Amino acid sequence: MMKLYNSLTRRVEPFVPLEARRIGMYVCGPTVYDLPHLGNARSAVVFDTLRRILMHAFPHVDFVRNITDVDDKIISRATELGEDIATLTARTHASYLEDMGALGVLAPTTEPRATDHIAHMQDMIARLVARGHAYVSQGHVLFEVATNPSPGVLRDTSGLQVGASQRVDGMDYKRSPADFVLWKPAAKGEPGWESPWGYGRPGWHIECSAMAAEYLGPVFDIHGGGSDLEFPHHENEIAQSTCAHGTKQMARYFVHNGMLTVDGVKMSKSRGNFLTVRDVLRRYPGQGDAVRLTLLSALYRHELDFTWGRLEENIALMSSIRSVAARSSSPGTPDAGLVEALQANLNTPLAISRLHYLVKNGLSDALLASARLLGLSLQAPAVPQAAPQDGPEAGGQPDDEEIIRLVSLRQQAREARDFARADSIRDELAALGVSIKDSPQGPVWKRMGGVNAA
Ligand SMILES: [Zn+2]
Repeated sequence: MMKLYNSLTRRVEPFVPLEARRIGMYVCGPTVYDLPHLGNARSAVVFDTLRRILMHAFPHVDFVRNITDVDDKIISRATELGEDIATLTARTHASYLEDMGALGVLAPTTEPRATDHIAHMQDMIARLVARGHAYVSQGHVLFEVATNPSPGVLRDTSGLQVGASQRVDGMDYKRSPADFVLWKPAAKGEPGWESPWGYGRPGWHIECSAMAAEYLGPVFDIHGGGSDLEFPHHENEIAQSTCAHGTKQMARYFVHNGMLTVDGVKMSKSRGNFLTVRDVLRRYPGQGDAVRLTLLSALYRHELDFTWGRLEENIALMSSIRSVAARSSSPGTPDAGLVEALQANLNTPLAISRLHYLVKNGLSDALLASARLLGLSLQAPAVPQAAPQDGPEAGGQPDDEEIIRLVSLRQQAREARDFARADSIRDELAALGVSIKDSPQGPVWKRMGGVNAA
């Protein structure tokens, strides 16, 4: 029995679908103007893993993940690059799919684009106006939060409400500062669509409400996204959907993943610790499985700290998994302990500890099936050709990172049975004053006067 933490009730509950044969799941997708970073990847990998464990128990999971391809950030990025919006969004979307594919994330069942659903959004906005939940003001259509019979479903903000008399600067088209935009005017020359309220474009929240209803109906099973989307995005989605459809709920379970830090701090371009999926795979080519395991190494609701050391541990673990799983001779079933861990509110750290157990005991059939269930491709990374610029600077001492990288390349070469290449890396390490021994636990390397396990 699957159990999930439901943000609506703030507790772990048994997962009971509306229809046992068809689960409906919606996850907020990317705004396509930039390459996906590790935080985006964590969310995609978490919900892909949830989807896979649901698919293990239920015959059909309808997984809808939208693409936001009209947005202020997209417009300003396109202007900055001197590129038209369609080209920018198509290119960025293709990169997103490629990068997520490298991490084993399955393509969604349906991947609707916001710009293909403007009519659905306009219908929904018109319905909200007709039902008295939205009003038109200075070319905007706004959702009137005060008309929502059940506000604060995900976060109770009643104590924070600013009185209607306290106008926010520049927001004098709103009856209350909490009211949010469903439709906003666009200037001539800006992307936009004709509407009953004038030329303009939709707000972000209405996109998800309209596309979720279009593909999954007014009430569906699971709505997912990062914890940063819980408020106001999901709160507003619920308000729009329930008020437009006259339902009590939008989705029966809301599931949120925690944020990601790098070396203990929030990722930011100004701090220089901002990592895209490509940055990571450029440093460790072909190690998508290890990146996936790293992104699953903490409980999904907790913060996850990404470090190179943690990734390197998972590179070593993947190498052991591949060599044990390669001995599998018949199709097995996933380890019961691993399935149970995933069904217990997606306890991925416990599931990963089961992988360690299966490796240690050489249970290759169960390991192969378990790794597949976790979304691991088990493809050995291609061994890159020697890249001279990757070597340490002449005369300098190689740092641990460089040694670990070489040790891992050598391990990959051994797995690919390219022993000539493995030997030449061993020679390269020897030239750096590092010796290497292969133990049952994996390679162990030694610098003058010390021992390290890689
Ligand atoms: Zn959304």
